[in-house]
Parts: sequence; structure tokens; C-alpha cells
Amino acid sequence: MKNLHKHNFGAGPCILPEEVLDNAAEAVKNWRPTGLSILEISHRSAAFEEVVKETEKLVRDLLQVPHNYSILFLQGGASLQFCMVAFNFLHNSGKDAVYLDAGYFGQKAIKEALFFGPVNVAASSRGAGYTHIPKEYSISADAAYFHCTSNNTIEGTEMFRFPETEVPVICDMSSDIFSRPIDISQFDLIYAGAQKNTGPAGMTLVIAKNDLLDSVKHPLPSMLDYRVYRDNGSMYNTPPVFAIYAAMLNLQWLKNKGGLKTISLENRAKAQLLYDEIDLNPLFYGAAERYDRSLMNVTFRMHDPGREADFLAFAEQNGMVGIKGYRTVGGFRASLYNALPYESVRELVNCMKVYAEKYHRPAILV
Ligand SMILES: *Cc1c(COP(=O)(O)O)cnc(C)c1O
Repeated sequence: MKNLHKHNFGAGPCILPEEVLDNAAEAVKNWRPTGLSILEISHRSAAFEEVVKETEKLVRDLLQVPHNYSILFLQGGASLQFCMVAFNFLHNSGKDAVYLDAGYFGQKAIKEALFFGPVNVAASSRGAGYTHIPKEYSISADAAYFHCTSNNTIEGTEMFRFPETEVPVICDMSSDIFSRPIDISQFDLIYAGAQKNTGPAGMTLVIAKNDLLDSVKHPLPSMLDYRVYRDNGSMYNTPPVFAIYAAMLNLQWLKNKGGLKTISLENRAKAQLLYDEIDLNPLFYGAAERYDRSLMNVTFRMHDPGREADFLAFAEQNGMVGIKGYRTVGGFRASLYNALPYESVRELVNCMKVYAEKYHRPAILV
């Protein structure tokens, strides 16, 4: 049984539903179809092949992935994708890749891509501290691809619109995939480290248009070639067995809840509750521009930064976990991933209210 007095706002690895943890724990001891632990079965067993098929099907159904896309399970996190994307689609292409620089992870993606070819930054909000998503930019028609990050996990901004362009669109969707319905056909390749809404750490989900994969003409090392994963059903080598199994349980939970429409209403309600408090409470303010606010990672600060350590301690005493802002950014960040209950957000909001009642002294009353 999890500690019910803890509210886990951690940014990743993040909170998972209790029933997923229970079922995963049970499978570690005895995974029924095999009578063995899920940790010690062969990845080539028929039972595990079923797990891979079922996980793929859940991804396909939940996101309504069109048939001309492949679903792959890799390792190396989203961070390996920064390099793999460029190695596959920029290297030897004779073209530039166009990147949107809207946050810490987009910046890291650019750094890795530069190993493989020229990068053209379409627009950047770096000078503004990444508090918004740049919107006015163009993508040249002869680019190798356009790369963006749909949700900036650290800065708390999210893209709700994606550019229409002839060039392939590649998106790091690590921290908002499965949080709301999305039109997959707008993208040519999507990748996501699992530990934010998909499952535990250890697996990376890739959804790729087959045409894009087949357009690659240069040879690649097997483990860095998407087609090797596709052509071997994500089993070219030993896949992350447990991480895939737990992701399957988590996606089943999501499906049973009603899928992405249902979860997106819940996620909206949670974000609204917290942003409303941030806007109304005299001690706090939102770190990101209003129109680009993320529904997954809510970043906020105190007008008096000298109070932040004290509020953090107060919130922690009251069971809030993981609300400290990223080390380079400061302030606070509350991540509201799918499994976080509305009740947890209410508790955090309550902490903010109680704290303000205690410490906010409007000048007029002194
Ligand atoms: C967490 C995160 C990453 C890094 O993921 P790893 O799996 O740790 O490599 C990359 N991009 C985004 C948007 C993230 O949220």
C-alpha cells in the first residue's frame, strides 16, 4: 500500500496508478501465465510476445495511430532519440535540419543533432528564459525535417498547435503524450521517454511513419537504425521486458478509465484548479506566459523569492513531494501527470491558501 499522505508531483519518473503498482508487484513475484517472475522470463516466450503485441495495440488504439506508422519500443530514453533522429534523417542528407528552440530539452536535442549535420534554429525563446513558445517562424521547404518539443517539462510551456509544413515533423512528446487526444497524422515521428505518462523508466516509445523510415539511404549501426527495431518487432536484442510490461498495465488502466478524452478532461480540471490559485493567491505568480501554459507541468514562483525555501518546507511537511523547480530554473513545478489525483492538487492548493493566510499581510491592514 502506498503512503496515502504523500502527494507525488514529481516530474519524472512520475506517479503511477496504485493498481498498476499492485499488478506489477504481483508479476515480479509470480507472473501467472508463466509461474515465474516477469523479471526472469525469456523475452522470446510466447507470453511476453503477447505483452509486446498488446502494448502496441493499446498505443495504436489510444492514440488512433494510422496504419502506415510503426510503433517501436527502444531503450536509451528520449535523450538517445536526440542523436538517433539526427543520425537517421540528417546525416548524409545534404540538408539542414530545422529545430524550434523552446526549452532545455529542445536545446539538448540541437546539441546532439550538430554531430550529424547543420542545424537551423527556426526560432528561439531562450532570451526570454523559455517562458513562451515562439510562434512566428518559417520552415524552409528543403529542410531534412522540423523538430519540436510538444511540452517543455522544465519550463512549463506546451504546444497546442504544430506548424503545417511539407517537411517531416519530428516531435519529442515525452511529457504530454497520452495526456490528451492528438492527431498523429500531423507528425512523421514522435518519441517519448516512458517515465512521464507511459510507464516506468527504461523504455522509449517511438511512433514513426514508414515512409520516413524507408527514406533513409545510408547504412546505420543496427541499434541506432529504426528499421531494425521495426523489422524485428522491437526484439532485435533484449527489450526492456519489465518496463514494457508495466507500460502495458498503465495503458490498460488509461483505456479502462475511458481513454484520452476522459483523461484530458481530468488533466484540464487539475491544471485549472492550480493555475487559478496561482493567479489569485497574492504570494504566487505563474512562471510561463499564460497562453502557453502547460497542462502537465505547472511552474510558479513567489513574489518574494526569500520565502520560497520556507513555503517548500511547509508544503513538504504537508505531504507534497517533488514540487521544487528544476535546479537551473528555481521556483516551483508541480507535475500533474495522468495518475495524479485531483485530490492531490486540492491539497497543494490548500497549502498555498493556508500559507498565504498566515504570511500575507496586506499593507492596508497593518
Ligand atoms: C524527460 C525528458 C527528456 C529526457 O528523457 P530521458 O528519458 O531521461 O532521456 C527529454 N525530453 C523531454 C520533453 C522530457 O520531458
